[in-house]
Amino acid sequence: MVRRRGIYEIKIRGQQLTCSFCKHNRFTHREVYMDLWALGEKVEEQLTMQSFSCIKCGDIRFFQEKNRFDQTLKKHVSIIEYMEVNNE
Ligand SMILES: [Zn+2]
Repeated sequence: MVRRRGIYEIKIRGQQLTCSFCKHNRFTHREVYMDLWALGEKVEEQLTMQSFSCIKCGDIRFFQEKNRFDQTLKKHVSIIEYMEVNNE
């Protein structure tokens, strides 16, 4: 499991992520691997999810890592952007 240290403001597809409960916009991050199961049998591949935990109320949201084509940069970039912030 990968865990980034620090506190982040997150953008998903260019939209600022805010907590659906308290509307706070700062999160801690960890990467979570989930085993996939099909008809009761374990599948080899794992699903990688990015987990963001609101630093104010602790609510957790999960997003799947995906790429999108950025017209300005002319290359594929992650839909998830991390901006590290200081927690005042
Ligand atoms: Zn919250």
